[in-house]
Amino acid sequence: MTAELATPTGAPFFHYQAGELRAEGVSLAELGQELGTPLYVYSRGALAAAWASYQEACVGHEVLVCFGMKANSNLAVLKEFARLGSGFDIVSGGELARVLAAGADPAKVVFSGVGKQAWEMQAALEVGVKCFNVESIPELKRLSEVATALGKTAAVSLRVNPDVDAKTHPYISTGLKENKFGIAIEEAPHAYTFAASLPGIAVVGVDCHIGSQITEVSPYLDALDKLLKLIDQLKAAGIALKHLDLGGGLGIRYDDETPLTPKLLLDKVFAQLQARGYGHLQLVLEPGRSLVGNAGVLLTTVQYLKHTEARNFAIVDAAMNDLMRPALYEAWHGVLPVAPRSSEQTLYDVVGPVCESADWLARGRTLALAEGDVLAIESAGAYGFVMAGNYNSRPRPAEIMVDGEQFHVIRQRETFADLIRGESCLPD
Ligand SMILES: *Cc1c(COP(=O)(O)O)cnc(C)c1O
Repeated sequence: MTAELATPTGAPFFHYQAGELRAEGVSLAELGQELGTPLYVYSRGALAAAWASYQEACVGHEVLVCFGMKANSNLAVLKEFARLGSGFDIVSGGELARVLAAGADPAKVVFSGVGKQAWEMQAALEVGVKCFNVESIPELKRLSEVATALGKTAAVSLRVNPDVDAKTHPYISTGLKENKFGIAIEEAPHAYTFAASLPGIAVVGVDCHIGSQITEVSPYLDALDKLLKLIDQLKAAGIALKHLDLGGGLGIRYDDETPLTPKLLLDKVFAQLQARGYGHLQLVLEPGRSLVGNAGVLLTTVQYLKHTEARNFAIVDAAMNDLMRPALYEAWHGVLPVAPRSSEQTLYDVVGPVCESADWLARGRTLALAEGDVLAIESAGAYGFVMAGNYNSRPRPAEIMVDGEQFHVIRQRETFADLIRGESCLPD
C-alpha cells in the first residue's frame, strides 16, 4: 500500500511524479543529495505565475504592484520581479540597496516602515523613490528637514490606520488602533494639512496595510471605504491625491485555507473606486507573501527518530533559526516526504536540533519516516530565509532557484568563516 500523496501547496510547480516530489523538472531528493540540507528551493515558474495572477486581475486599470520584498529579498528573486515589471515596497536602507543592486527602477519604489532614519531618507531621496509612506507627524518633520537640506522634494503618502480587524494572527495584524503602525484615521485630515504646509514635502497619496495572511475580502473593503471617506474630506480641503495604496496582505494556502485571489479582491476594489468617483486614482499594491510564499520549500533531512512515552519526534537538520514562523507565530507548514515510503505511519512532531522548546517545525503529523529521509517543509518562500539567523552557530542554508530542468545556486550555504566574519578577540 502506498501512502496517499498530498497535493503540494506549491502545485503545479511542486508536484509528485513517479512517487517523487519535484520542483518543476528537478527531483528534490537528488537536489538534497547533491547540495545538502537544509536547503531553500524556489520555483521560477511559480514566481512568474503568482505575478501573472496580479497582472491578469489588473487589466484595464492603472495599477503599480510593488513586491513587499521583506518576504523574500534574494537578489535573484528581486531581479526576476524587476524583469517582470514589478515595483518594490521597501522597509529599510538595506532593502533599498538590494533593489538598486538588482537593477530595479527607483521610480517604482515605495518606502514603508515606522522607524525610518535620516540616512535612509537621504539615500531614498537621492535615487528618487516614488513615494515615502509616512507613519507619524515626527517622521513628517524629519523627512521635511532631510529633503530641504538636500534641495529635494519628498513625495509623501500617509499610512493611515483604518482600525479594521484583518481577522488574522495578532502578530501579523497591523490595522487595529492598538498597533504601532500608521496614523489614526481620525487624525489623518490634520496630518495631511500639516504635511501640505511643510517645505520639501509633496502630498501624493494615501496608504494602508492592515495585516498579513488575510483570507477574506471584507477587511480590505472596510479599509477602502474608510480611505475613500478620508479622500472625500481631503478633496473638500483642497488636497488632491494621485494614488491609493492598499498595502499587501493577501493570504496563501498553508493548510486548507481557501486563499483570496488577486482577481476576487481587485474586481471588488475597482468596482468600489468606480462607484465612488475615484476610477482615475492609481492603485498601488504591496503584496509579499502571495507572490512568493508557495514558490518555495525548505528541504531538511531526518537525523533521528526518537520515540518517547508522550511523543514521537522526528529530529531534522533544519531548525527555528532556518525557518522561524512556527516558533514565532505557531505557524502551520505542510510537511511532505520527497520520496514517500509505504511503511507504517506514525504521529510525529518534526523538531530541530536547537536548544529551545520553541524549536519545532511541525507538530502532530502522520508520516512514515526513516532516518535519512528528506522532507520538504512547504510554503517556505515567504518569511523563510529572510528571517533566518545563526543561533546555535548554525550557518544559514543555501538558496536554489529551479528553472525547468535546471537549477541555480542563488545564495551559497554559509561557512564557518562566514559565522565569525567581523569578530575579533581582545589583545593579549
Ligand atoms: C510586510 C508588508 C507588506 C507585505 O505583506 P504580505 O502580507 O507579505 O503581503 C506590504 N506592506 C507593508 C507596509 C508591509 O509591512
